[in-house]
Amino acid sequence: MKYEDFPQEIKPYLYPEPKGLMVYNCLQCGSDFDISQLLYTCPECGSVLLLVDKNGPENSGINGKEWRRIFDYRRMLNDLPLKGIFRYYEFIAPVIPLDLIVYLGEGHTPLVRANKSLTREVGSQFYFKNDGLNPSASFKDRGMACALSYINYLAKEKNLSDIVAVCASTGDTSASAALYASYLRDILHPAVLLPKGKVTPQQLSQPLGSGAKVFEIPGVFDDCMKVVEQLAENYNVALLNSKNSWRILGQESFSFEIAQDFDYEVGDKVVVVPIGNAGNITAVMSGFLKFFKAGVIDSLPKIIGVQSEHADPVYKYYLEPEPRCRHFKPVTVKPSVAQAAMIGNPVSMPRVIRLVDAYNGIEDEQKIFVVQVSEQEIMDCMLTANRNGHIVCTQGGESLAGFKRAIKLGYVSDGETGVLDSTAHMLKFAVFQDMYFTDSFDPEFEITPKDDLKNAPIEVKPKGVQKLPAPGKPLSGEDLNIFVKQTAAEIAKFLGLEPK
Ligand SMILES: *Cc1c(COP(=O)(O)O)cnc(C)c1O
Ligand SMILES: [Zn+2]
Repeated sequence: MKYEDFPQEIKPYLYPEPKGLMVYNCLQCGSDFDISQLLYTCPECGSVLLLVDKNGPENSGINGKEWRRIFDYRRMLNDLPLKGIFRYYEFIAPVIPLDLIVYLGEGHTPLVRANKSLTREVGSQFYFKNDGLNPSASFKDRGMACALSYINYLAKEKNLSDIVAVCASTGDTSASAALYASYLRDILHPAVLLPKGKVTPQQLSQPLGSGAKVFEIPGVFDDCMKVVEQLAENYNVALLNSKNSWRILGQESFSFEIAQDFDYEVGDKVVVVPIGNAGNITAVMSGFLKFFKAGVIDSLPKIIGVQSEHADPVYKYYLEPEPRCRHFKPVTVKPSVAQAAMIGNPVSMPRVIRLVDAYNGIEDEQKIFVVQVSEQEIMDCMLTANRNGHIVCTQGGESLAGFKRAIKLGYVSDGETGVLDSTAHMLKFAVFQDMYFTDSFDPEFEITPKDDLKNAPIEVKPKGVQKLPAPGKPLSGEDLNIFVKQTAAEIAKFLGLEPK
């Protein structure tokens, strides 16, 4: 809609201004730090940080109903920077001038409702939110759009160029970082660190295609993360892991979109997310809390975090019911098909602990649960979902497996609706589908393919046909007729088709 056609009273709110007063806040010692530099950990105590807006939307004088109208009208605005996650500008990073926002088409991913047969099988109604439909095919683009917009702004302010941006990755962070950095190639040079052999060929091809320097490191993600932290502490680099709290802000848009897409009624929703480095669940909790505090929503959804048995430190932490007795211990990971979440020592754990307490405290009721699922369940759920019209990755399969587990454990009440995060596109993880179909998993995965979920191409060799077409050697005339007839007859036999 054209600007002049919007109602008069909404016009002053359509284009937000950078009025935020943002600071880094240390979760451990409580100190605040200026955002004019990139900080990843507290200079005083070394703990992780979160960004807060001292002029936050809850103090803006705008009430919940007004915020809802602003977002619903802004949805109709055809202005690029506000088309993506920054539709919720005031709740994300209200310090970045609109003209410096980087928009590559991220956010506003669709909710796809489960069909009847999948709903029956799972025992509850639910949707997948397809975050694999982001530009680099994972949710990481939400955070990267925010972090890179901020770096773009800093670079302009301070006249910087030739910034080296680094990240460690289980595959998707590097794909996303490399994509956004390549858009800003005049100021940024991306370098990504991957655990050798622990990302899929598709994920490896992404940063290579975007022109990043790609380093393969022995070990697992946790080892890469240590190396990247060493780089960030000792050299002049911009760190793009979710330790960078600008990423968390962008990822909060996942929650804002769910709220808006359900007309801000989320009290009966159960949002399910896989947990790896725990940046995503941090952002999802923080996003809903912000909307709640500003009155945009009037109750909070439940949130279920899911971990594989092969990488489950957050699950183990919350197994202890008595908060004072909980003690965080990193785990040694085993091979997991939910490879993007195969992390034994999540960087965002202190953020999770803080936000779970805040979230459960609001209505004095447990709303956050962490469940554990097997590798077998993850694969079976991914394949089952995709046989019912979805395009979920292994981590999306993990969400579905976790939702089923949560239902079994009684965490989901009658009448509640699941909103399951499919964090990436299935094509990125096609190798695991392949291993399932060909029964070629390494025993360490502990996965036995079920025959009814397997699939394979059927090679058709029409009987009694002398001449076959080949690339560059087409058939014609009677040869072509015979080939077409016999091949069709063969396929009809396979499919059990009756002649008309
Ligand atoms: C990064 C990632 C995760 C894990 O998210 P965290 O923020 O690390 O917990 C899950 N699924 C996919 C596809 C990912 O790329
Ligand atoms: Zn501190």
